[in-house]
Parts: sequence; structure tokens; C-alpha cells
Amino acid sequence: MAVIQCPACNKRMSSKADACPHCEFKLTGLSSEQREREWQQVVQRQRERLTSQSMLALLMAIAAFTYFFMQQPEPGSWQLHLANGGMLVGLVWFVINRIRMLLLKRRGC
Ligand SMILES: [Zn+2]
Repeated sequence: MAVIQCPACNKRMSSKADACPHCEFKLTGLSSEQREREWQQVVQRQRERLTSQSMLALLMAIAAFTYFFMQQPEPGSWQLHLANGGMLVGLVWFVINRIRMLLLKRRGC
């Protein structure tokens, strides 16, 4: 049994497996044309998920910032930590999603 890289998500999987356990990309019983189409669909699905996630992340950062701006929580209060944490997590999450979308694009789609 060999370990190969899934063509769709690049995670490691068994060459004997019918489908990738990570993204369910099917490998056996398909012509190269079908595989190509299947791959496009997987990439498309991943892109949609990343887009909605980055939107969610951005909304979260904006909501936290709006709260921070409108309420101006006192220094050291839990509200301030919450607003700061929300902004930080939202922005980091957004950037990560953007990078993943770039990587997805670079894989040839
Ligand atoms: Zn996969």
C-alpha cells in the first residue's frame, strides 16, 4: 500500500482508497476527464466555503470593531478583551482564508 497525495486537497491518502478520506475526491473508476471534472467541483466547493468563511471572519472583525467604537469599553474590562479578541481572531481568520484561496488558485484552477 502506497501513500499518495490527493490531487484535490493535497492531503495524504492511501493509493488503494476509492476516495480521499479528507475531501471525498474519487480516484478509482474514473477516466482522466471525469477526474478533472470531479476535481473542478471539489475546488469550486472549497472556494465557496472559503469565501463564505472569510466573509464571516470579516463580519466578526467589523462587529467587534463597531462594538469597540460605539461602546468604548473601559480599559481592562472583559468587554474590551472580547472586542479585541473578536477583532484579532476575525482578522487572522480572514487572512488565513484569503491565503488558502490564493493557494487554491495557484493549483491551476
Ligand atoms: Zn482530498
